[in-house]
Amino acid sequence: MAKTETPGENAQLKDIISHAKEYGFVYPSSEIYDGLQAVYDYGAYGVELKNNLKRLWWETMTRVSDNIVGIDAAIFMHPTTWKASGHVDSFNDPMIDNKDSKKRYRADVLVEEHAAKLENEGQVEKANSLTAALARLLEAEDLAGVRDLITNEGIKCPISGTSNWTDVRQFNLMFSTQVGSVAEDASTIYLRPETAQGIFVNFLNVQKTARMKVPFGIAQIGKAFRNEIVARQFIFRMREFEQMEMQFFVRPGTELDWYQKWADTRMRWHLALGTPAAKLRKHDHEKLAHYANAAMDIEFEFPFGFKEVEGIHSRTDFDLKSHQEYSKKKQQYFDPEINQNYIPYVIETSIGADRLFLLTLCNAYTEEKTEEKSRTYLKFHPAVAPVKAAILPIVKKDGLPEKAQEIVDALKYDFNIIYEDSGSIGKRYTRQDLIGTPFCIAVDHQTLEDNTVTIRHRDTTEQERVAISELHGRIAEATSFRRIFEKI
Ligand code: ATP
Repeated sequence: MAKTETPGENAQLKDIISHAKEYGFVYPSSEIYDGLQAVYDYGAYGVELKNNLKRLWWETMTRVSDNIVGIDAAIFMHPTTWKASGHVDSFNDPMIDNKDSKKRYRADVLVEEHAAKLENEGQVEKANSLTAALARLLEAEDLAGVRDLITNEGIKCPISGTSNWTDVRQFNLMFSTQVGSVAEDASTIYLRPETAQGIFVNFLNVQKTARMKVPFGIAQIGKAFRNEIVARQFIFRMREFEQMEMQFFVRPGTELDWYQKWADTRMRWHLALGTPAAKLRKHDHEKLAHYANAAMDIEFEFPFGFKEVEGIHSRTDFDLKSHQEYSKKKQQYFDPEINQNYIPYVIETSIGADRLFLLTLCNAYTEEKTEEKSRTYLKFHPAVAPVKAAILPIVKKDGLPEKAQEIVDALKYDFNIIYEDSGSIGKRYTRQDLIGTPFCIAVDHQTLEDNTVTIRHRDTTEQERVAISELHGRIAEATSFRRIFEKI
């Protein structure tokens, strides 16, 4: 079981959160009003990084695979969608309140954290029997039993320190709102809690109009909303977040092979992006959701322990079959190779863009200390780094700014480039390190004579002299997605 810690206990996460805020990556939403819990805004460098990650995922899906196309479905969907998908009836988390502190918790998380504490103290068997008991009670939907487990174990509220608990209740995580301007006619609709259903309801539209043949996939990136009971750990668990999901439609009976293939492909993708193998692991689900016949998570070792970043699920024909029943519209595919109609089975890969962002930031955040000096920098893969190069005239005179501006103009249509001429060159290097710019290009007096510049490399701080005419090629090579695609 993964070790769990609260953010207050985790110094590294705290450093990353303050770095993200101070250097323009992530701010709390509507901060001047003291923020809104579990909602965040991305700043100048954050949005570039996030867009690069999304584009990398999108192009991996729609270009590296030649049988995947994309869609962009609406956030609002017909309310019956969520009946058919099972979200109205069962997209719940069990919650419990402490009567003294008035704080609300996820009952299952309280038990899991208690078990993790026991495990850390060496009481492994007790921890295992506790998590097994929890799984049995949740499976049987025995909420009174979950409450008994919490009180019998003497689990206390970390705020009040008491065990004065309410009953455990189910809490539906979907946000609802009213559509229609006249109150009497208005009907309740939901903000989508996952993007997948927009793909399922469009399965036949896409299959027919893009002339796809099974096996094929549909990819989508978009916002999803969940009224998470406890939102913690920065952008790890948000109430408004972005998902990148791909549903791969296959012939029934072949789904478990495809499931393995996708699990391996997605793992290779994370490795190709530079995440160390030791920080990634696959975790098979012991308890499967009602719609799945196999499921696993790809977990990353965040500062607060190994946690899910991506889910790979074999969803059978559950969703399409259920939409067929509720809509009374056939969701079948005619397979010319075997001359048969069937409802395809589905393998899903689902990753949160914000969680991938947090993974990338945690991986990149580097503090280097030697006897002489210490340095903090963000070691992003150049392909996703928010700024690719900073062009820095070493002095603000003698025609150097003009020469530097010429270089900016020659590069800026292809790369995100920064020009900066104030402060010492050392300070300017430091500033670029803090936002993870892979190349600093210094323009000096020699540049005016021979059209060469100094490139300073972020990770090694080494410097080399190169011709201006080489810059475009060098940056293009280092930042191209192609090098990542080739490793998948
Ligand atoms: P968890 O167990 O962490 O709640 P989940 O199993 O409910 O996640 P899925 O429904 O499988 O998550 O969603 C797929 C992906 O969407 C997750 O792997 C994660 O990257 C992302 N995700 C889910 N919920 C959130 C959230 N509240 N905030 C940010 N990302 C999320």
